[in-house]
Amino acid sequence: MPIIDCHVHLNKYDRIKSQAKESVLLENRLDALLQSMDSNNVDYSIVISSYRVDANRPSASQIIDVVNKNENIRNRIGIVTGFTIDNHTDEDLKQYRTWLKDRLIIGIKLYCGYEHYYPYDERYQKVYDTCMEFGVPVMIHTGDAYSSMAKLRYAHPLNVDDIAVDNPELRIVMCHLGNPWIADCQEILYKNRNVYSDISGLVVGDFNLPSATRYVSQINDLLTYAGKPHRLLYGSDWPISNMGSYLAFVRKLELDEDSYDLMMSRNTKYIFRL
Ligand SMILES: [Zn+2]
Repeated sequence: MPIIDCHVHLNKYDRIKSQAKESVLLENRLDALLQSMDSNNVDYSIVISSYRVDANRPSASQIIDVVNKNENIRNRIGIVTGFTIDNHTDEDLKQYRTWLKDRLIIGIKLYCGYEHYYPYDERYQKVYDTCMEFGVPVMIHTGDAYSSMAKLRYAHPLNVDDIAVDNPELRIVMCHLGNPWIADCQEILYKNRNVYSDISGLVVGDFNLPSATRYVSQINDLLTYAGKPHRLLYGSDWPISNMGSYLAFVRKLELDEDSYDLMMSRNTKYIFRL
């Protein structure tokens, strides 16, 4: 069963020491991603573009260009584009529709918390409508944020319940298990069959023993409550989190084979139609 990492980035992060000097160039960061996938036997990754475009944050269009230069790369990388109320326009959404039609992107991500709006803000509805029309999931940032400017109340997993109920045909991926509100995330998963969560970004860098122990216990609690990981997706948040350490962490969960395959591969394949 192939391993699919549904949550990685090609941004340049000043605070991430593992990003080498030469990673100033997008091409080099893509090479680093492919190398990390190779050395960890990860078959496919979904790259997510940011909430804004600047020198460190490539646009979806730049990512599409660099990924599609080479067929081998195209076959191993999917692209999800960020959408924000503040930094994106209707023109952008029109462009996304063309890309969705051509399968150059396979989903849209919202950055609630990073921008100060609730997921049920009606200005996001056009994004949900677009995702339903093209049969792709919307990913929504939930939980702690990698920026002190973020406002956490907008990123609480409980907010996702409203859109899950109001858009029963929409498939929603909560990112990061809503960490640290994992108990809230588990209730949203349990109650709403159209909601999924990725397990990415629980640590910066490597898991240490206390963090691994804590998250193993929390994810096992979630599974006891919500049942088999039918709606959990494997994701690392590379390069913020280390892929090797993440895979070692997953092995600590001691999932049975079927559950492991669901989380590492089948769930992501199914909702992103890979
Ligand atoms: Zn991320």
